[in-house]
Amino acid sequence: MEFLVLLGPPGAGKGTLSRLLERRTGFLPVSTGEVIRHEMADETSDFGRRAKPYMDRGVYVPDELALTLFFSILKKFSSGAKVALDGFPRTIPQAEVFLDWVKQEGHVFHGCVHLDLSVAQAVERMKLRRICSVCRTPYHLVNRPPSVPEICDECGGALMMREDDDPERVASRLERFHEQTRPLIKWFADQQRCIHLDGGNDPAESVATLMASWALI
Ligand code: AMP
Repeated sequence: MEFLVLLGPPGAGKGTLSRLLERRTGFLPVSTGEVIRHEMADETSDFGRRAKPYMDRGVYVPDELALTLFFSILKKFSSGAKVALDGFPRTIPQAEVFLDWVKQEGHVFHGCVHLDLSVAQAVERMKLRRICSVCRTPYHLVNRPPSVPEICDECGGALMMREDDDPERVASRLERFHEQTRPLIKWFADQQRCIHLDGGNDPAESVATLMASWALI
């Protein structure tokens, strides 16, 4: 398998970038946050029950839970799949396990894409962020509005605010990012395995930069 890792504060545009990347390169987007929200919506899911207390507070789920989730998600991919991981690994301990596993199994890790955005920009973005309640396509009411107000261009579903985009959880998620994920980005950068991109730029430009930097097709 081949992997890319997308990291950045909430609201930086990792979801939009990964969807565009899929169209251009075939890298399949996997968002651990999306999978956790999906599991939480399923009342029979033991994983959802275990993750809920953390998600309700806007803090990261423990590393052991995130790793269990990651390895269970992988089961549905073929051995030759190309995957863009949106939000995993998100801490140094997760990255150590991930990279050991990549090496042991002979997979390819292209590197980490850091989509940077200031706290003020991230907060503003999330106020105007909407997602489709059916297919979860992300929108921004000003920068990337749907063609018909409140309706998803992809599937016709109704748009809504994301479950954890309320101001309190946004503040907590940003704090976790600065405490736990910024050090990981530096860790990847110290190993020359990180590309820094401005989350304020046009996502199509970011995809072009990535394709030029790494042989992704
Ligand atoms: P996201 O959709 O990427 O913003 O993630 C939403 C939430 O899911 C995060 O705030 C965390 O609570 C949880 N989460 C997602 N991925 C991870 C991970 N790799 N490690 C720990 N928590 C995660």
